[in-house]
Amino acid sequence: MDVLTREQRRHNMSRIRGRDTKPELLLRRGLHASGLRFRLHARELPGRPDLVFPKYRAVVLVHGCFWHGHDCALFKLPATRANFWAGKIAGNRQRDERAAAGLTAAGWRVLTVWECSLKGPARLPLEKVISMCEVFVRGSEREGTLRGRTRTES
Ligand SMILES: [Zn+2]
Repeated sequence: MDVLTREQRRHNMSRIRGRDTKPELLLRRGLHASGLRFRLHARELPGRPDLVFPKYRAVVLVHGCFWHGHDCALFKLPATRANFWAGKIAGNRQRDERAAAGLTAAGWRVLTVWECSLKGPARLPLEKVISMCEVFVRGSEREGTLRGRTRTES
């Protein structure tokens, strides 16, 4: 007999997958704690930006380094079906460019946060990423990028 309700099971599965500790979620929590309010995955905006701050006319895009083909240690083209993956990632990058251009044209300020700033060997302290995001959102820069440390910065 099945003693778990569907709801409980879903909860357990989400715990098992570690969803609660995902860096992106920690970033969202930190921004919320700093008093910023945002919407998630706004469908009506180009590229469905991850975080939308209507009050500041700003969006934050959290890009996975593999899927968006980042030039960093987290990206490595798989050895098998390399052409397939290269084509797929090139398509993603084109979509990213179109989305960013569409957002900018509509007057949104766009901050891209690369996954490598949040996880992996080059990651920055979480508090630093949160505060850099906050500065961007509350500021007036048209666009910005946040990435993990590069070697020269040590
Ligand atoms: Zn990266």
